[in-house]
Amino acid sequence: MPSVYIKTYGCQMNERDSEAVAAQLVAKGYTLAKSEAMADVVLLNTCSVRDMAEQKALNKMKSMVGVAKKERPNQIFGFMGCMAQSRGQELIDKLPDVDLVVGTQKFHRTADYLDEIFAGRRDKIVDIAAEEKSEATIREHLLNGNATKSVTAFVSIMQGCNQYCTFCIVPYTRGEERSRGIADIVAECRELVSRGVKEITLLGQIVTSYGRRDIPVRDGKSAFVQLLEAVHEIAGLERIRFTSPHPKGYGDDLVVAYGRLPKLVESAHLPVQSGSDRLLKLMHRGYTRERYLGIIEKLRKAQPRIGITTDIIVGFPGETETDFEETLSLAREVEFDNAYIFKYSPRKDTPAAALDGQLPQAVKEERNEALLNLINEIGARHYEKFVGCRTEILVEGPSKKNPARMMGRTRCNKIVVFDGAERHGGQLMDVRIERVGAFTLYGEPAIVNLG
Ligand code: SAM
Repeated sequence: MPSVYIKTYGCQMNERDSEAVAAQLVAKGYTLAKSEAMADVVLLNTCSVRDMAEQKALNKMKSMVGVAKKERPNQIFGFMGCMAQSRGQELIDKLPDVDLVVGTQKFHRTADYLDEIFAGRRDKIVDIAAEEKSEATIREHLLNGNATKSVTAFVSIMQGCNQYCTFCIVPYTRGEERSRGIADIVAECRELVSRGVKEITLLGQIVTSYGRRDIPVRDGKSAFVQLLEAVHEIAGLERIRFTSPHPKGYGDDLVVAYGRLPKLVESAHLPVQSGSDRLLKLMHRGYTRERYLGIIEKLRKAQPRIGITTDIIVGFPGETETDFEETLSLAREVEFDNAYIFKYSPRKDTPAAALDGQLPQAVKEERNEALLNLINEIGARHYEKFVGCRTEILVEGPSKKNPARMMGRTRCNKIVVFDGAERHGGQLMDVRIERVGAFTLYGEPAIVNLG
């Protein structure tokens, strides 16, 4: 059977989609190649959130088809995911050596399309149509005995987004919000736990909007909180995370859940995007600075140890120095544990791309750097507080940077590197934190574990 290599750009949902496609191909007998040079099929799973991600994937494909023409004329190339969805046929018109373009509702068709191409029944295939129930097709997992993979898993609970933030391309690439049923998701989680998974991250573009059109509020609990409760029931599951929520999804039912569901870890990623009410309105975010700060306050009251991270966009059209100052002051006020900072990138067909006041790249760079410095400074203070403390981690496997050491995560989502052994992989254990690095804690096992 042929071998396949999948390269993924972008978010955790893309990682999850790639994993499901890889697992579907493995189930058909494909092997997973270690590099594109060794693969019969190369698939790029693309991201459209910023132009840079699109250009990276396009350049990668250009260079690969160039080499393949000379060295591997039978190699098959495909684009999947968000850029495939937004550009479709145009990708094959521009790069005629590409064989396959699979949109965001068609990941599960990839294996069949490759069969057709290998059998010579079809030459080029572009499928970016919508497909009913495609939200329930990302379910296969690759738990291949690698400790990093088998102790934690991501579960896709929904697809699409109805928020239509004016900067964001996602509603156009991922389609309308569609949610899977609770029983279906719980069955997938249960199966993962039976295979050794201890931590599950529920995934969606806006997870907190899960099921809101299909599952009625019950006893004051939203569909998402009902799902959390159902997953929480699974014996053997130790930790539940979710990403990415929207601040407006933090109703009291979810805030209270942090205090009453022990498996729901003390970690929340709350994308704020800006500290300026004027910009939040232009972005169509649906909350004000005051409401955002109120949510953070409630969360910290319900769970004082909670780690809070965010996404922030700098250089949105018309962002003044005053607007940017408000973002800096919000970051100081919240004291985020960490933040992903994005330089605004105009996206095709989004309202913000047509706004007056597009800012020069130099201004975006300058604001990016200023905010990054502040986030690093605040983050370092948070991390310092852990020194000398004992904390529980779930050991995921060898550290990526130094495979001689082991790596785990605290409940509040901080990476801990420690001198451990392979037998620690997959264990929940206590470590004592001895020092900090850049957004990393270094520790030692608090109890010598002979197991
Ligand atoms: N659930 C998230 C939310 O509440 O907005 C959306 C996740 S989005 C795919 C990831 C992040 O990419 C966003 O939070 C935003 O900060 C950033 N982003 C989206 N569109 C962008 C654009 N046009 N330019 C720069 N950053 C962008």
